[in-house]
Amino acid sequence: MHTHIIRNPRHKAFLNENRSDPITGDEIKEGDKIVFCAICKSAFLYDTWLYLDKTHCNQGETLGKFPSSQKLEISGVTRPPLYVIGCNDKISNSYGNELLDETDNHFMNVPVIADERSLYQKNTFSIWVIIISVFLIILTMFLGIAPLSIGITFIAIMTIGIKSMFFKDKKLFTPSKKKKEIESIEIHRNYISIRFKDTKKDVRIILKSILTINLIYAGKSYSLQIVKKGNKIYEFSTSLSNVTQINQLLHSLVQLDEKVTIFVRNLPYDDRIKLRKWETENENILLY
Ligand SMILES: [Zn+2]
Repeated sequence: MHTHIIRNPRHKAFLNENRSDPITGDEIKEGDKIVFCAICKSAFLYDTWLYLDKTHCNQGETLGKFPSSQKLEISGVTRPPLYVIGCNDKISNSYGNELLDETDNHFMNVPVIADERSLYQKNTFSIWVIIISVFLIILTMFLGIAPLSIGITFIAIMTIGIKSMFFKDKKLFTPSKKKKEIESIEIHRNYISIRFKDTKKDVRIILKSILTINLIYAGKSYSLQIVKKGNKIYEFSTSLSNVTQINQLLHSLVQLDEKVTIFVRNLPYDDRIKLRKWETENENILLY
């Protein structure tokens, strides 16, 4: 574990941010001993970090190097997530393709996910139409019936046009029989990102499209349900298993850019008491 003592003027930029401990709300001042979560770069007072069992974002790594203020202010694309939920789940058959189609590339600040397929893979249909047409055109020219070429060209253009009008190619992943395994779910200020094993691609569900988030206690661990406007539901089983982790997750969920209704369901009685402050302080959080 790496700790840092806040010094002035060495950490002046950090002090100017007037940060407070994300869990206790205590102001972070000169002389305080702090710890940075390696994933979300949040700064915690040392005692808070101990209280969190030295874990945040589903892991225990801390930053050895004091992050420069420039890095702390990164906005948009490279901004670190608010929280990372560990996940060990496969895409469900019931919604697999719909989930993979989620990412809205027009979404502000989100980099367009690279389509790694070759030109041929992307346009197989159109390329074959062109090859066949060119072959037919050459053939008709040799046979001395050139006017037919114009007809063939016209039909080829129409075919490609109609195909691209009605069958928009939205697939981000080349089809594979292997089910995509989900590694983690990241909570960002304006979207939730589903990260997959074996691939750097992620699927982003935009906050604006989300109606409610359900955290359901299922005996050993919690499952996370994302209910979209229009009632499409995605459900993931997570590695969240205790009230401290739920506490951390709720802390990130109240920082979202827009208020989403959050239900925590099937809570054991003791945990419900521990989490009660979230319900009393936030009208959009409901415990059951
Ligand atoms: Zn973190």
